[in-house]
Amino acid sequence: MTSTMLSPESAPFTPAVASKADAAPLPAILGTYKRQAPLFVRGDGVYMYDDAGARYLDFVAGIAVTSLGHNDAGVNGAIQEALSTGLIHTSNLYRTAPGEALAQWLVERSFASSVFFANSGAEANEGAFKFARRWAKSTGAPAKHEIIAVRGGFHGRMPGTLAATDRPNYRLPFRPLMGGVSIVERDLTELSVALDPETAAAVIVEPIQGEGGVRVLDPAFLQGLRTLTQERNVLLILDEIQCGLGRTGTFFAYEQLGFEPDMLTMAKPIANGLPMGAILVNETVARVMQPGDHGTTFGGGPLLAHVAHHVVQRLSDPALLQHVQETGAWFGEQLQAIGQRTGAVRAVRGTGLMWGMDVHEPASAVIARAFAQGLLLVSAGEHTLRFLPPLVITREELAAGLAILESALKA
Ligand SMILES: *Cc1c(COP(=O)(O)O)cnc(C)c1O
Repeated sequence: MTSTMLSPESAPFTPAVASKADAAPLPAILGTYKRQAPLFVRGDGVYMYDDAGARYLDFVAGIAVTSLGHNDAGVNGAIQEALSTGLIHTSNLYRTAPGEALAQWLVERSFASSVFFANSGAEANEGAFKFARRWAKSTGAPAKHEIIAVRGGFHGRMPGTLAATDRPNYRLPFRPLMGGVSIVERDLTELSVALDPETAAAVIVEPIQGEGGVRVLDPAFLQGLRTLTQERNVLLILDEIQCGLGRTGTFFAYEQLGFEPDMLTMAKPIANGLPMGAILVNETVARVMQPGDHGTTFGGGPLLAHVAHHVVQRLSDPALLQHVQETGAWFGEQLQAIGQRTGAVRAVRGTGLMWGMDVHEPASAVIARAFAQGLLLVSAGEHTLRFLPPLVITREELAAGLAILESALKA
């Protein structure tokens, strides 16, 4: 390892030790989340309703998933259509039309020559790491295997993706993580040292870091990284799981960057809430993958693929993308203005309908006050509020949420 590859694990980890005093009744769902108290029973458009009938304006969209909102007639119709065939699942041992049609659509709409369907974001990224290593072996360089991620990134919670995720508190209890994965500073000089053609297989980066605080990476940095990876014979994987599929005002975020990646992963909104992920790969990668090299039982089944085919067509509609650009720019201005009026805000960052707001107090305090007034928000780090509303949200609905936000920031 070179000195530029920082190890985020330098701090010692002190595990919580269970004691007899921890004898409170256990929830049936394992306690890995602090869930909000109300029981949600219904959704409609940009609103969710609890069992007492209270209405919540949804600026989270299931963490950038329900981009078409809740109870969307088109999505519901696509689910019904898929169900009418009676064929929910076949396994990948057999051909089905919806998966082939969706793959064809994605190939025509992107840089990719082929698609692998997975079930989640982490699974898509883990697959991309495997594909990168498979390709690296095919180059004939025996030690070429390393996956390099950048500071501030989030790529998932599985052993490989967690190794690429820059969140010490997510990582520390689970060491050792997958080997051959490093996190390097967001800096082309540092990356240039790390990208040894003999050892490096791929770089993975989110064009807009979501969990890492809604950080819009400098296009010049990303373009430089594309050039560097090409010079060093290293693959570039764009993780567009959160920022892709219309969220930034173009169908893929890379369309605004002027270059193409070698692989791209997507998931969150692809089936508007049904679990699905995908890995888009270029011809270089597609040519080395052979039967048996990777697999999944569920991936790309006919129900999911049919629904996703409907969703991606909706999310690539130029009218929707224009709506995201215009409404998003207006929303960002409003967030800036609220920051100025309240004095509670340190910084506002974002693009399209993906925004972050750094606040002086803990984000959780603001989220709790907004929640009490019927607005759902999520954080992205200790002091950052994150805004990921459904892409179909209107300016009036955004304004209603902004009013609650302002009052929650003042309280
Ligand atoms: C959410 C997310 C993931 C992980 O997706 P899961 O479906 O939760 O496994 C990976 N990368 C990015 C950028 C994400 O936002």
